Amino acid sequence: MGATKNKGKIGAETRRPAIAGGAPVRAREDFLVFGAPKICEEEIAEVVSCLRSGWLGTGPRAHEFEKAFAAYKKKRHAIALHSCTAALHLSMLAAGVGPGDEVITTPMTFCATVNAIIHCGATPVLADCDRETMNISPALIEEKITARTRAILPVHFAGRCCDMDPILDLARSYDLMIIEDCAHAIESEYRGRQAGTDGDMGCFSFYVTKNMTTGEGGMVVTDDERIANRLKMLALHGMSKDAWQRFSDTGYRHYQVVHGGFKYNMMDLQAALGIHQLRRIEENWRRREEIWNAYQAAFADLPCFLPAPPERNTRHAYHLYTPLIDTDRLGRSRDWVLEAMGRENIGIGVHYLPVHAHPFYRKTYRWQEGMFPQAEWIGARTISLPLSPSLTDADVADVIKAFRGVLG
Ligand SMILES: *Cc1c(COP(=O)(O)O)cnc(C)c1O
Repeated sequence: MGATKNKGKIGAETRRPAIAGGAPVRAREDFLVFGAPKICEEEIAEVVSCLRSGWLGTGPRAHEFEKAFAAYKKKRHAIALHSCTAALHLSMLAAGVGPGDEVITTPMTFCATVNAIIHCGATPVLADCDRETMNISPALIEEKITARTRAILPVHFAGRCCDMDPILDLARSYDLMIIEDCAHAIESEYRGRQAGTDGDMGCFSFYVTKNMTTGEGGMVVTDDERIANRLKMLALHGMSKDAWQRFSDTGYRHYQVVHGGFKYNMMDLQAALGIHQLRRIEENWRRREEIWNAYQAAFADLPCFLPAPPERNTRHAYHLYTPLIDTDRLGRSRDWVLEAMGRENIGIGVHYLPVHAHPFYRKTYRWQEGMFPQAEWIGARTISLPLSPSLTDADVADVIKAFRGVLG
């Protein structure tokens, strides 16, 4: 009796979705914002204390944050920057990527990955992803390697690690640099190794929707001291080492500009958030894992393809929860589902329309539809449901109710 009751529980209630005239799961004024960060009192107090200290720019808090992040990743150096886009850009410059070079990455990523390659004057080359993992396919990378290839830029999609061992083998065989886009993958691990630590450099994002946030922010980790110094120099106008100290209590020191650099340094105001967000990283990861698992259980019978479970001997960072709508079985397009979820007042995302679908790249690189069929297949079906640690159990129940109603 108890068993029958439980069995019937999920999905027993059939509700008319708002798009078909039913009442929305949430009221308009209670719209569930996608990717809302969880900010606690510690962050607020630290920001206030930073403001009161009078030192807002790069300084002691940015350095404390770098030290803590390097310790978390067990790397010798961590360089805090204004964004992951800046981190990718400077990493490639530090790796010597420039005009005439090619860098291989995936079409299933955010435009920033490809734009950073373009900022270096290099040419982005795409290798399609696998349908199951949504990560770049190592076998397809090899097909794209030419005499001009300089680096591989794997993206650990949604927090699932790329298959790094064959990628590292390729890098060794062809003498290529590896720069990892870990924007989704702060907590990810692959065969006991942390994401961002296999490559020459690992780049992280602290944008508002990411697993931890500094508002805007990024970080590069590396063990190479020469690269670390180059990154710091490039990030601050190309000024000689530690030029940020020129206004500190150590007394004024002249700096020298040794390169036409950039303005990519992280402010102490940003780091004030990061220091405390990093301390709560495991707690927030556990909450997202819980929500991820609740979704997997609640959507098993729906016309959608659920994310594959994490591979053995890996740790998923649970950055995005991305079921793929089975458009054939549902008889509706993914965009109809987006619209329907919006009508329920649930915020959703799309990660991603493949990079080569955008007009700029089509025009510039002559990328066309049909060139990367797996990324296109995913891009036409994917939807990201809210997966922030700031979600309450009631919020999660609303997402489940809305998604079941829409796909039911
Ligand atoms: C968010 C994101 C970036 C860019 O990060 P920013 O910190 O916003 O510059 C790069 N790559 C991927 C895969 C991302 O999701």
